[in-house]
Amino acid sequence: MKASFKVLLIFFLCLIAGYTTYLASTSIKQQTTSRSTATPQVALDHEVEQVIEPSVTEVTIGMIGDILLHYPIYTYPDFTFAFDAVSEQMQSLDFLLANQESMPAGEQLGLSTYPSFNSPPHIIRDLQKSGVDFVTIANNHTLDKGEQQVLLTIQNLQSYNMPYTGAFASKEDQQKARIINVEDIAVGILAYTYGTNTYVTSHPDGKDYLVSYLDEAKITADVKALRSQVDFIVLSLHWGEEYNTAHNEQQQQLAKNLFAAGADAIFGHHPHVLQPFEWIEDKPVFYSLGNFYSAQPWAGTNVGGIARLTLRKTVTANQSTTETVDAHFLPTTAVRDVYNGHVDAPAFRVMPLQQYGNQMGWDNAYVEQHIGLPTWH
Ligand SMILES: [Zn+2]
Repeated sequence: MKASFKVLLIFFLCLIAGYTTYLASTSIKQQTTSRSTATPQVALDHEVEQVIEPSVTEVTIGMIGDILLHYPIYTYPDFTFAFDAVSEQMQSLDFLLANQESMPAGEQLGLSTYPSFNSPPHIIRDLQKSGVDFVTIANNHTLDKGEQQVLLTIQNLQSYNMPYTGAFASKEDQQKARIINVEDIAVGILAYTYGTNTYVTSHPDGKDYLVSYLDEAKITADVKALRSQVDFIVLSLHWGEEYNTAHNEQQQQLAKNLFAAGADAIFGHHPHVLQPFEWIEDKPVFYSLGNFYSAQPWAGTNVGGIARLTLRKTVTANQSTTETVDAHFLPTTAVRDVYNGHVDAPAFRVMPLQQYGNQMGWDNAYVEQHIGLPTWH
């Protein structure tokens, strides 16, 4: 009895196992049949997807902070010597922005230092020679000498074929989207300032194209209008508290909101000193890039640097995405030095901070730790 029961049990188990296998194979067959008969192109798409590799492009973009031509800097007939020690790094970026804070309207309005700046146009030529591809001109000094200064500065920028944004010659000029193709990555650039010293937060005669004020609703609308035309949106924001080495909560909240609206990276400036870098989710914010080139004498105000982001665009059959995959910062310093052998004439030039050493308590290791990013070379 025991033996026959075992045989019976094994027989039933085999029967169940066999039936289960039959069910499984049938359902796979049914699935396969329904895929291949109902939608034959699915199999074709599948084959095509396997053949086409995603195309990947990587580029580097970056920004240098404030260019503020105080006395005696604005008297120099040539500025290339001032950037020589860092021009190789500046030129190595695929796309480099600079914040031209003192407006280069030229001799016509009289060259001048703080508090009402006016700079010589050849600063544009020499920044361009040193690797700058684009300037932002939305700053608190944009309207130091009024509308005429904006118009003359823009004429000078155009004569050097230097693209710009943040201040405009007309409504039409303002409405032209600023899109730069960095290899096959279309980068859109927008720039805003918290205010202007002369007109505070209003425009002369209501000419609201003359300078772009930092207004969240306006920036959000601009970002949304640009979004579908580009792969990546850079915001240049002139904001924050002067001489404060930390950003504030309002800036952080605004950065979050602008990223949510569709911006991809923020380069901030105005405080004249460096402030920490931060990733907000996967989007980079440099709260303040400090002064790149100025004659301000205080600790920290002689230290700036070159921010560098690596962007990666990945295109597959179905979609295209562009993201920031890493961030670096090269600390620099504006040092007094002799110019053209005139030992009695102080001349200012920019050097890598690592090479210069300690600038009034700021050295390379301190800046790396303060910014929170490694140096690049
Ligand atoms: Zn400023």
